[in-house]
Amino acid sequence: MPPFDFSQWPPRISEKDRETLQFRAASYALAHGLLYLPVGVQPSVPTSAIHAPISLFPSPFPRERFEQAQKLQSIYNVLYSRIAMDTEFLDQVMGTEQGVGQVDEFTGQLWSGWRDLRDKSLAQPLHLGLFRSDYLLHQQGSELSLKQVEFNTISSSFGTLSQKTAEMHRSLESSTQYFNVSPHLTASNFPPNRSTAGLVEGLVAAHTAYNVEGSKILFVVQAGERNVFDQLWLEYELLERHSIRVVRKTFDELAQQAKISESNSALTVESPNESAVEISTVYYRSGYTPDDYPTSEQYQTRFTLERSRAIKCPTIPLQLAGGKKVQQVLTEPGVLERFLCDESKYGAHGVFPAHKLAELRESWMGMWALDMNGDAGVKQARERALGLVLKPQREGGGNNVYKEAIPEFLDSLSPRERSAWIAMELISPPVGLKNYLVRAGSGASVETEVVSELGIFGWSLFGQGKVIEEKEVGWLVRTKGKESNEGGVATGFSVLDSLLLI
Ligand code: ADP
Ligand code: MG
Ligand code: MG
Repeated sequence: MPPFDFSQWPPRISEKDRETLQFRAASYALAHGLLYLPVGVQPSVPTSAIHAPISLFPSPFPRERFEQAQKLQSIYNVLYSRIAMDTEFLDQVMGTEQGVGQVDEFTGQLWSGWRDLRDKSLAQPLHLGLFRSDYLLHQQGSELSLKQVEFNTISSSFGTLSQKTAEMHRSLESSTQYFNVSPHLTASNFPPNRSTAGLVEGLVAAHTAYNVEGSKILFVVQAGERNVFDQLWLEYELLERHSIRVVRKTFDELAQQAKISESNSALTVESPNESAVEISTVYYRSGYTPDDYPTSEQYQTRFTLERSRAIKCPTIPLQLAGGKKVQQVLTEPGVLERFLCDESKYGAHGVFPAHKLAELRESWMGMWALDMNGDAGVKQARERALGLVLKPQREGGGNNVYKEAIPEFLDSLSPRERSAWIAMELISPPVGLKNYLVRAGSGASVETEVVSELGIFGWSLFGQGKVIEEKEVGWLVRTKGKESNEGGVATGFSVLDSLLLI
């Protein structure tokens, strides 16, 4: 077959066939719980939902690049587990004495809280990570390579809804054959996606390690969250396949209801009309942005949970490990070796061969610190602005500064503030790729040029003195209109999509 021409995707279909796809896609999503809560204040008992934002066609992606991303996940799982256990490194990079925490208030708050706790009163040595490593295709001439956007260690979302989106596209293929418009649109090119069972397996591993009969898993959630169904599908899987119950609480509810046992540091949650229940695992779908901590009380609640005997997903050090600053420092000479080649620390079996490190490095774009060598970092960012993105220590989309906005932004940044930002070379995805995007609940589709971002899910259960237990467990595709720089589905810029292997 000739090389795939991304600018010819999706294949042409008639207006009538497009309406058929829209009807079937929206109906499938509504029938299978591929849903969001609608905009606006929700009643305490929900009465309606809308389908999530979706694409009508799956997005083409080279099979080898997908398999490469899947293969990398295991080493990333180990790498970030080891970073989270390397206190000295995190102090240096993220702390308030030498690192980003000096300047970035949010990072500093988390780091300081953790430092105060870690010497005296951390009751649980295990950490659980549910990770998502995100990639874009990078085109140079006819070469397509895989480049990492970022690695998420907290609240990695859309695991369950991405599985449902893949199932929706497969159902469209079975029911319509996509009107036979492309030989690529056949069942064998739709890879399976079992991220729901896979992510739940991570939660079950933590719950099992905690090993207390009758204990439950706590989901720490945001008030007013619209992406609740993505979380609820994890809850149902835990209940139906593993008989493990879940309690959902916000930080503000936990401020009243979370208690720690004086004798064994067990975490219990006691609601007004329910008896107290012991928590095995704390799973955060909140707590990743400063908006989740409007007052010092929310930080206090976070630290109370942190010092308890429950297993945290993630712990504060694991959340800090996912910082953009860590991603940049990993590209500096010798840092990857520190985590992957130190036999005295990780043993002969814990050391990775040089070609594995080379594979990881090949998946990275160039990055540097804005405070590199005095003014050199800023100077280089000005000179190369049009090929760059600047990132602060934030999650959840909408925080980056791109291309022509960079020089003016740099003018507004004091020398001190620079150390909270990194510069990253822009990835160049294939041009001309299009899709039909359906906004949440809108019923209508818009044909537009797009960029597709692949995410690979993995989990890891680890702690000092324990062999790291980890797995690659599924994938996600988010597709955004090319005109928008950012890709956060929840913020309304992009849609859920799936893979069509080419
Ligand atoms: P967040 O943690 O807020 O999701 P990301 O690093 O993922 O931060 O950046 C948000 C979005 O910005 C990404 O989904 C992607 O669309 C875009 N982006 C980030 N880095 C790059 C890059 N190096 N090249 C091109 N686009 C990028
Ligand atoms: Mg991201
Ligand atoms: Mg992120």
